[in-house]
Amino acid sequence: MSSLAIYNTLTRRKEPFVPLVPGKVGLYVCGPTVYDFIHVGNARTFSVFDLVVRWLRSSGYAVTYVRNITDVDDKIMDRARSRGEPIEALTERTVAAFAEDCARLNLLAPDSEPRATRYIGPMLELIGVLESKGLAYRGANADVYFSVRDFPGYGKLSRRNLDDLRAGERVAVEAAKRDPLDFVLWKAAKPGEPSWPSVFGAGRPGWHIECSAMSCRELGETFDIHGGGWDLQFPHHENEIAQSEGAHEKPFVNVWMHSAFLNMGDEKMSKSLCNFFTTREVIESLDPVQGGEQLRFFLLRGHYRSELAFTRELLEDAGNTLRGFYTALREVPPGEGEADRSHPLAARFRDAMNDDFDTPVAFAVLHELRAEVNRTRSPALAGLLKALGGTIGFLQADPEAFLKGGVSIDAGKGGATIDVDALVAERAAAKRARDFARADAIRAQLDSAGIVLEDKPGGATEWRKK
Ligand SMILES: [Zn+2]
Repeated sequence: MSSLAIYNTLTRRKEPFVPLVPGKVGLYVCGPTVYDFIHVGNARTFSVFDLVVRWLRSSGYAVTYVRNITDVDDKIMDRARSRGEPIEALTERTVAAFAEDCARLNLLAPDSEPRATRYIGPMLELIGVLESKGLAYRGANADVYFSVRDFPGYGKLSRRNLDDLRAGERVAVEAAKRDPLDFVLWKAAKPGEPSWPSVFGAGRPGWHIECSAMSCRELGETFDIHGGGWDLQFPHHENEIAQSEGAHEKPFVNVWMHSAFLNMGDEKMSKSLCNFFTTREVIESLDPVQGGEQLRFFLLRGHYRSELAFTRELLEDAGNTLRGFYTALREVPPGEGEADRSHPLAARFRDAMNDDFDTPVAFAVLHELRAEVNRTRSPALAGLLKALGGTIGFLQADPEAFLKGGVSIDAGKGGATIDVDALVAERAAAKRARDFARADAIRAQLDSAGIVLEDKPGGATEWRKK
């Protein structure tokens, strides 16, 4: 049996995965800043790490999955101010919307979802340790900074050299900082901003310190896997390493995993470029029953370290492929009992997933398995298809219900909806009465509404959306 290998951004190599404690995995993923709906690029990152968690668990690991929520930040304060809304109301609403989006994407809830505002104490403790070790200092503006030049490993994750970074620093050197690369740990309170009392004076945390403090509380000073989007390598993850290793003087994370961008055209999808779709608007543009799994499939069928283009065509293609899997499961209902994991296709699927979560190969294996199900009509193979899909969170819906899709279908006439089941029953009655003109008219009406009918031996008719 193959064992798991993961590409580690820190070493730039694929390495055999060896957990700190046999059989257990601590995994931390940088979560959302809660001021707005997540866009589909964010959904890609969270879907990738959901896949990682599911595969680790399917492989027998006991995983502790932590994904934080950043609920204190300039963007949150700006948004709350512009909306004339209290910060807490904005963050609570956004956290709830995020949970809804995650549920639609079938993402597992993390074991712990720490919020920054509830970990101010641990953050201040950590800043205190850094100050006592000479790695943090109080600026003239009363902010507290991390002193990058005093941490020898700075730049090792993103492989940047401090002198190059300084040369590339275009912003004017802030007078309060000793070095332009120093980053803020604690920001002095300003009027109208949330603040907490501290030995450094009233203020609020910088962004980076929360992940160091919360991951340590939830997973310990050293843990197995830290994940996030590609763009978080620098400066966020570099700064997390500096804070955690500076304070604890031991390795922070064994394996760093980064998921690649989702692109719009040639550019990364991002809020700052204003070229994004929110996750919910994409799902809502799709079938209400199929949309969540369709988007999840679109996001995960490419390899997580390859950039992915967001296009309607690719999204539709993902839907067609997914419906093909469900059609096989409808035609050949999975047998009862345990799937045969010793089948050669099961072994190839496992090898692909163990090879740094190689989903393109894993899904190609499922394609082959689907063809085998169609050819042999073997309930045992259908059971294996469903079971393998289930290891990474796919193909678990009832095939009949999934393929029918949403119940309310726009007939294209002023947004009117049609009752498909009633029309199918009326067509059956017309056929029994040998009124074939009426039966054909109903088929044509359903066809123009995007419904395909399949007459089965024995007289039953099944339908699905095109
Ligand atoms: Zn983080």
